[in-house]
Amino acid sequence: MDRNQQLFERAQACIPGGVNSPVRAFRAVGGTPRFVQRAQGAYFWDANGTRYIDYIGSWGPMILGHGHPAVVEAVQKALVDGFSFGAPTEREVELAEAVMAHLPSVEQIRLVSSGTEAGMSCIRLARGFTGRSLFIKFEGHYHGHADALLVKAGSGLATFGHPTSAGVPAEVAQHTLVLPFNDIEALELAFQKHGAELAAVMIEPIAGNMNFVRTTVPFMKRLRELCTQHGALLILDEVMTGFRVALGGAQSVYAKAIPGFAPDLTVMGKVIGGGMPLAAFGGRRDIMGKLAPLGGVYQAGTLSGNPVATACGLATLREIEKPGFFDALAARTRSLVDGLKAVAQDKGIAFSGDSEGGMFGFFLMPTLPQNYSTVMTTDGPAFNRFFHGMLDRGVYFAPALYEAGFVSAAHTQADIDTTLAAAREAF
Ligand SMILES: *Cc1c(COP(=O)(O)O)cnc(C)c1O
Repeated sequence: MDRNQQLFERAQACIPGGVNSPVRAFRAVGGTPRFVQRAQGAYFWDANGTRYIDYIGSWGPMILGHGHPAVVEAVQKALVDGFSFGAPTEREVELAEAVMAHLPSVEQIRLVSSGTEAGMSCIRLARGFTGRSLFIKFEGHYHGHADALLVKAGSGLATFGHPTSAGVPAEVAQHTLVLPFNDIEALELAFQKHGAELAAVMIEPIAGNMNFVRTTVPFMKRLRELCTQHGALLILDEVMTGFRVALGGAQSVYAKAIPGFAPDLTVMGKVIGGGMPLAAFGGRRDIMGKLAPLGGVYQAGTLSGNPVATACGLATLREIEKPGFFDALAARTRSLVDGLKAVAQDKGIAFSGDSEGGMFGFFLMPTLPQNYSTVMTTDGPAFNRFFHGMLDRGVYFAPALYEAGFVSAAHTQADIDTTLAAAREAF
């Protein structure tokens, strides 16, 4: 008797599609979603009691693995003192200070409850600060599901966007300019035409919602120059990459290649909450000072800075701050990607992969893609067969080829070896 299937049928009767976030429904890969019963370390167990090596980690947050003892203890302690107050707490200040210590571009920060909320608030703040409406995003980048951000490219370069979702008015989408990713010419053209109307450019420094695609260094450098030159704010969406690819986020990786590089605003989420609903945005003090109650840009939240969530996030940050944490995590992640490459090569399968810190991606194509249209040329059915081949062998990769993967500090070399043995069979 398949308990996952039973639960999925029950769920579909009361929840649209049976899930509370679409990708969980396995629509892309087919088959029955696994209902998670519990998780520990690098593993979770589904409703049948089957164990999986977890390469999603709640889509990024679980960088320490599940149920890390120091985090569990911090959360249990916080719970006893109260779930939510709607009044300030010392821990919010502590978390703000901890984030600022690692991200020099963040001079002030505000805590919210989800990445969507943080991204949406950043756009409003950028518009309020600049007095402009237009902003740029890139094809294949996901910044949460706020109306203005659910916009896809029109045909041709530098066209105004169309809503990607029903229910988004064209009047909202028309202020969003969608450009091809890593295309300097298109970027320059857009600034040439619209530079004076641009409030901001929002970008995932390493795009993790179209698998794993880095911003090229020349593109990032030119983007920073153009934003400064035209008075548009550069917003890095580090919801996925923040505290995941490095302690200082992807911005610290780019600052090594581009001297002085810093965004004006940063969007954070996922790891910052350690698995609890917590996200944040922050940046230049003069910009953050436009937020209520200091300035005229309104933003608020009943559960913002929640005491249990901040305890979880802080305890997680304290662990990843320890010397050598990211070196070890990056090495383990690289050994997974290098191992997969070697197995694929052995089997004569076109394959490429990349990683940074504890985040990785792989493609069933010979070289790494640099933009969304190339990612879209992936052989979907082949990916789905590989996904199910791995799932059948107890390895849980993201159930869609457009998603990045995550290794945690709880993944051992033995877990990687088990994964590679499974891949040898699945390929
Ligand atoms: C996950 C994600 C978001 C949205 O965060 P939620 O907490 O799911 O609302 C925004 N931007 C990026 C880059 C993300 O990966």
